[in-house]
Amino acid sequence: MNRTITVKTGSKTELIDITRHIEEAIRSDGVDEGICMLFVPHTTAAITINESADPSVKSDILMILNKIIPWEEAYKHLEGNSPAHIKSSIIGASEIIVVEGGRLRLGTWQGVFFCEFDGPRSRKVHIRLL
Ligand code: ZN
Repeated sequence: MNRTITVKTGSKTELIDITRHIEEAIRSDGVDEGICMLFVPHTTAAITINESADPSVKSDILMILNKIIPWEEAYKHLEGNSPAHIKSSIIGASEIIVVEGGRLRLGTWQGVFFCEFDGPRSRKVHIRLL
C-alpha cells in the first residue's frame, strides 16, 4: 500500500492528531499486519508521536519549541521562516509504526501528530505499508 493523505493546517504552528486518518487509510486498503512508514515531504513541517489524551501536552510542546526557537533572531535565510526549518529538523520527517489487526500498535496514550511550523497550508503525509 502506498498512499498520500492531505492535512489542512489552520495556524502558524500547530500539532494535529492524524492517527484516525492513518488508520482509515490502512483499513481501506485491507492491510492487517505490517510496518507503517510515515513521511512528511516538507521542510517546515514534521511528524511525531506523543500523548493524545490530554491536549495540553501538544500546546506545551509548541510553547517550548517556540520559546527555544524564537521567530525573531539574526537568521540569514531570506524567506524569513528559519525557525520553521529548524523545528522541522529537530522533530523529524518520518515515523515507523507496527500494524497489527489493521491498527497502529501505539501505546495507550500515544497519537500520531502532524506538526505544522509555517502554516496555515495544505500539507501531505505519505504512507507506505510493508
Ligand atoms: Zn524557507
